[in-house]
Amino acid sequence: MKAHHEVTDYKSSIRPVWCAGCGNFGALSAIYHALTELDIERHTMVDISGIGCAARTPYFLESYKMHTLHGRAGPVATGVQLANPELTVMVTGGDGDGFAIGGGHMPHLARRNVNITYVLIDNHLYGLTKGQASPTSRTGMKTKSTPYGSPDAPVRPLAYMLTYGASYIAQGFAGDPKMCAELIKGGLEHKGFAYVHILSQCPAFNKEETVKYLRSIIRPVPESHDVADADAAKRLLDKFGEKQPVGLIYQVERPTLDEHMAEIVNKAGGSKDYDINKIIELLRP
Ligand code: SF4
Repeated sequence: MKAHHEVTDYKSSIRPVWCAGCGNFGALSAIYHALTELDIERHTMVDISGIGCAARTPYFLESYKMHTLHGRAGPVATGVQLANPELTVMVTGGDGDGFAIGGGHMPHLARRNVNITYVLIDNHLYGLTKGQASPTSRTGMKTKSTPYGSPDAPVRPLAYMLTYGASYIAQGFAGDPKMCAELIKGGLEHKGFAYVHILSQCPAFNKEETVKYLRSIIRPVPESHDVADADAAKRLLDKFGEKQPVGLIYQVERPTLDEHMAEIVNKAGGSKDYDINKIIELLRP
């Protein structure tokens, strides 16, 4: 019989080392609750990260885990998921890790519909290296590396994910772990690439975007929003402008990368007896 898990079952013996008041605590709490509600067996769960404050999350989870190279969590997670599609595979990391160093991988996770959940905790700067601008820093934002204000336009992660074909896109706020838990839970249940963006505070280095500020710019996704309509999702993101929609923004079903690969392996003789030359032949354009 399947064991029933409590929140404490997903907590590892390592205590989080984040600064007091860090938004990562809210995101971690949300992850614990999402796993508990889904009652995921710990030996079937893998959390993979790159480098950064948020990328320390796997340490605090009682599951299989990999703390990989900066920006490379996505490709590693792809390999893990393809090697064993029965696993629940999650990536946890920050905005710098995901959109700067790992920026080249994001489009491919989305367009291939890799069956993983990517929880990106966005505090709009690099915290671990003490407060430099990241790809999501606002234009004019003063950081250690931009003392006169960032001259760059920030990337728009949600619009970016929509454009590249993510099949589940949601945004939460670290100050509301309950809502984040629901969105992460939805992502883990979703078949395909689930992108969960969590707006978060970094009290140590981002003195402008405090919890109070973030709370003032979030707005719930209207109930009338059709999550299966990509045009409606785009209009929603454009309409909100500087304000941030929180909730489920987009969700559709489409074939995943592991399903596609399983089809190829079957055509080449099945998972046990496949012929690698036949696979190469099948993959040839
Ligand atoms: Fe959190 Fe910022 Fe401290 Fe890193 S530096 S642990 S992001 S508050």
